[in-house]
Amino acid sequence: MGRTLQPLLPKEKRFLDEGQYGDNVVVTSVDTILNWARLSSIWPMTFGLACCAIEMMAVGASKYDLDRFGAGVFRPSPRQTDLMIVAGTVTIKMAERVKRLYEQMPEPKYVMSMGSCATCGGPYWKHGYHVLKGVDQIVPVDIYVPGCPPRPEALIDGLLKLQEKIRHESLLRRKFEEKVA
Ligand code: SF4
Repeated sequence: MGRTLQPLLPKEKRFLDEGQYGDNVVVTSVDTILNWARLSSIWPMTFGLACCAIEMMAVGASKYDLDRFGAGVFRPSPRQTDLMIVAGTVTIKMAERVKRLYEQMPEPKYVMSMGSCATCGGPYWKHGYHVLKGVDQIVPVDIYVPGCPPRPEALIDGLLKLQEKIRHESLLRRKFEEKVA
């Protein structure tokens, strides 16, 4: 004897009966959803210039675990990154290379100046004739992280501030302004 099958409800009725309609509709703007996706998956570039880079490496390791913020995927190519963390002393010799790396990153892209060397020349600001007195002379900086070196917590704080900045951006408006300009 075969089993007696229950008559199936029409598809629309089942959908409403199970209350799925009310639980699954989300209304948002394109900017909000794009910004949420971008700020949750920041890919920094793998490069460091001096002692500050050691702290940056510590942030990526298990104790601080940058993956908690979606930013733990350090990429070896500027073409796959959207965040440049300038961690260390920018010498005059390196400045041109740093600028070239920045130009190879796709838009939208961000720069974080980590430590006093990258921000203003650090301990070399007066007598270091070979050191650039601030990486913002060659690339636009979005976030400055103070310290010599900054603690890993300071770098995480800078990342959270960058995420807040991205959250309030409008990519569509930016595209429109680029076209008008
Ligand atoms: S800011 Fe201090 S720790 Fe960082 S690269 Fe300069 S000297 Fe080194």
